[in-house]
Amino acid sequence: MGASSDSAMQPATPGGAPGGARAPGFWRAAAGLLCPRCGGSRVFAGWFRIRAGCPACGLVYEREPGYWIGAMYVNYGVTAVLLMTAWVTLDLVAGLPWSWVLAILVCLGAAFPVAFFRYSRVIWLALDVRLDPPRG
Ligand SMILES: [Zn+2]
Repeated sequence: MGASSDSAMQPATPGGAPGGARAPGFWRAAAGLLCPRCGGSRVFAGWFRIRAGCPACGLVYEREPGYWIGAMYVNYGVTAVLLMTAWVTLDLVAGLPWSWVLAILVCLGAAFPVAFFRYSRVIWLALDVRLDPPRG
């Protein structure tokens, strides 16, 4: 390959979409469940069905086998912080009985990771695209 064909394959900005489309920004991509490279499409085709890649910019979402383990860490970390905050608030600040606190924390600990599943994947994908932009 010559130098001219190499430069034609490079995005306008590091991690940017081919053709120079502007990245949507980390929080906008995460909140809108949008492609973190171009923002031109949604990452999920259904509640739990992730697309293979972005139809707008061609970004492959699952970059390698086991790629989504990082999203599990994101989901676990956010859930742990939420549960710790809820525990401090309910038990130490509000002074609820321990049985109520335990019931609320169990329900929150079961429901939140499911509700946050899609966001954790897009957060992980956006982090990865920012820190290790796909080449080519
Ligand atoms: Zn895209």
